[in-house]
This record gives sequence, structure tokens and C-alpha cells, in this order.
Amino acid sequence: NWLDVSRFDVTTIVRELSSVLGKTFQREIRVHADTHSVNIRGDKEKIRQLLLILLDNAIKYSKEPIDVRIRNQKNGIKLEVTDYGIGVPESEIPYMFERFYRVDEARHRTTGGSGLGLSIAKKIIDIHEGSVEVYSKPGNGTTISILLPRKI
Ligand code: ATP
Repeated sequence: NWLDVSRFDVTTIVRELSSVLGKTFQREIRVHADTHSVNIRGDKEKIRQLLLILLDNAIKYSKEPIDVRIRNQKNGIKLEVTDYGIGVPESEIPYMFERFYRVDEARHRTTGGSGLGLSIAKKIIDIHEGSVEVYSKPGNGTTISILLPRKI
């Protein structure tokens, strides 16, 4: 994997993406950041793509506002996207990141996706040596929580 590594502020990317997507899809995307800026070393465009995949899913699978949290933790940078949408059954969570996997296809007739987004997201997390956790409840919503090492 070819990486274009630089040092950048992740809150700027989150704010830019949230603003563009919010306007485009007429959705409220709320950004909560611990501090004004949160610097990280990594591939900026790939991190942007990662956040785009998570926000795109949150938009597709929910109707309420979306919350994005950026936390500067001791063990790295936490990026969390929370939606209050259809959620994912617990038994399906282990498969969400597999290529072409989609939960209960019947649900997705109106939001045709390919099932590739999260497999790409997982690759981007892996090449940054990060980790991901999913918290979800059908009917309540989903939080995708990513921890990336700061590496500064
Ligand atoms: P695309 O490749 O266009 O993103 P997709 O959304 O179907 O299509 P993934 O992003 O890989 O593909 O997601 C895989 C599956 O996980 C989805 O089809 C959906 O069933 C489920 N999923 C992902 N994110 C959410 C979410 N925020 N809420 C509910 N289900 C989700």
C-alpha cells in the first residue's frame, strides 16, 4: 500500500466533510471535538475517504441528526460516527466489514450500495495500525468507533 503520509489536523477534515455532506443531503451533522485541533500523522486523503464512508453510511441508514466525535485520548485519536437509524443486528456485526456484505438486502432497495465501503474503511484503518469497534442496536442506531495511533 502506497501511503502519502503527512501531519494534519483531523478536526478540519471532519468539519469540512460534515459541512459539505450536510448541505448536499440536507442533514444535520453535529461535530463534537475535545480541542480546537487534533493533530495526527497519516495519509490525509485516505483518512478523509474513511470518514466519508462512515458518514455516507450514517446518512443512508438513518434519518435523525448524526453525531461525530473527535477525542484526543492517551492511547490515540478516537473518531466516532453515531447515527440513530436502522442499526445492525448483533449477529451481523462481524460481517459488516467484509467485501460485498450487506445486511438484509431487502432493506436497501432505495439505497443501493455495493457493500464495499466498510471493507475499504477497514483497509484504511489497518494501514494506519488503528482499530475499530461497532456498537449497534436495531432500531436505535449505530456507532462506529475508530482508534488511530497519533504517531507524531
Ligand atoms: P457502499 O459500498 O456503497 O458503502 P454499503 O453501504 O451497502 O454500500 P458498506 O459500507 O460496506 O456497504 O456496509 C455494509 C453493510 O453494513 C451495509 O449494507 C449495511 O447493511 C450495514 N451498515 C453499514 N453502516 C451502517 C449504519 N450506519 N447503520 C446500519 N447499517 C449499516
